[in-house]
Amino acid sequence: MFQAMPHNCPGTSSEQAGKTSSCQGCPNQNLCASGATKAPDPAIEEIAVKMLSVKHKILVLSGKGGVGKSTFSAHLAHALAGDSNKEVALLDVDICGPSIPRIMGVEGEQVHQSGSGWSPVYVEDNLAVMSIGFLLSSPDDAVIWRGPKKNGMIKQFLRDVDWGDLDYLVVDTPPGTSDEHLSIVQYLSSAHIDGAVIITTPQEVSLQDVRKEIRFCRKVKLPIIGVVENMSGFVCPKCKNTSEIFPSTTGGAERMCEEMNLTLLGRIPLDPRIGKSCDEGKSFLAEFPESPAALAYRSVVQSEEHLTNKHMEH
Ligand code: ADP
Repeated sequence: MFQAMPHNCPGTSSEQAGKTSSCQGCPNQNLCASGATKAPDPAIEEIAVKMLSVKHKILVLSGKGGVGKSTFSAHLAHALAGDSNKEVALLDVDICGPSIPRIMGVEGEQVHQSGSGWSPVYVEDNLAVMSIGFLLSSPDDAVIWRGPKKNGMIKQFLRDVDWGDLDYLVVDTPPGTSDEHLSIVQYLSSAHIDGAVIITTPQEVSLQDVRKEIRFCRKVKLPIIGVVENMSGFVCPKCKNTSEIFPSTTGGAERMCEEMNLTLLGRIPLDPRIGKSCDEGKSFLAEFPESPAALAYRSVVQSEEHLTNKHMEH
């Protein structure tokens, strides 16, 4: 006998199929919940084709917000683009707090749509940026998007942005492990991802969440390129002595990397000029190239580049 679909049916191919309260009592609930009605999303193949022209894809992750993940993503992109022979793009999918436009000095810019997709915003000739922030009417817009809308946006970012040929695509992701991370990993599942760089501070509160992040990466088989310890000590600009502002009571990222068999890519000290440069949309690496923090960023990026290239050879 014909049974009507429940009033608020999420759709048989939705991620929520069989799982919402309106599915209760529907004769198809078990079938939907089993996943049998979900065809693989054709976007996965389309994204794989698009990503053929992107050599390296790097995700930047953190367990918590406020540890310097976006700042690191921005400086990773700046440092990679320092080689004018390389084409670099930075994609900001931190949907709840897109700070990349400000850090990269392109806040308020518009993305244009053309026949070949959305054009990213160029910071340098060889450095393109795309962010959810460009699509909001004001930087203070509360982005209260639900799962399907966020996933749709991530899909569009990966499939519909006209990046051209790239050497590096750096993806700044939201903190923690959320649906967005699962979406990115799933959408990039047919395109090779080099791996994730994980940002933490030396404190146990941050490391605790990072351990969860690492378990997540291992579960979804996302390779981890390495860990960066940010806000790691403060080098006094006057006396050059280092103070531990956030002490690493449990051995910091170094001990965690040993325990979890990961590479520590380096440590970046606190430097108040980083925040200032970012607020002004300038590259700290260009503004203070000889500062201990700029040298640390460069050395981390070199180890990271070395690891991704080594990885490519296998
Ligand atoms: P997240 O992306 O993890 O939420 P952000 O990159 O937005 O964190 O950084 C949070 C704040 O910390 C920003 O104001 C940023 O300028 C500042 N910051 C990040 N790294 C450093 C550092 N090494 N020294 C000083 N300030 C930093």
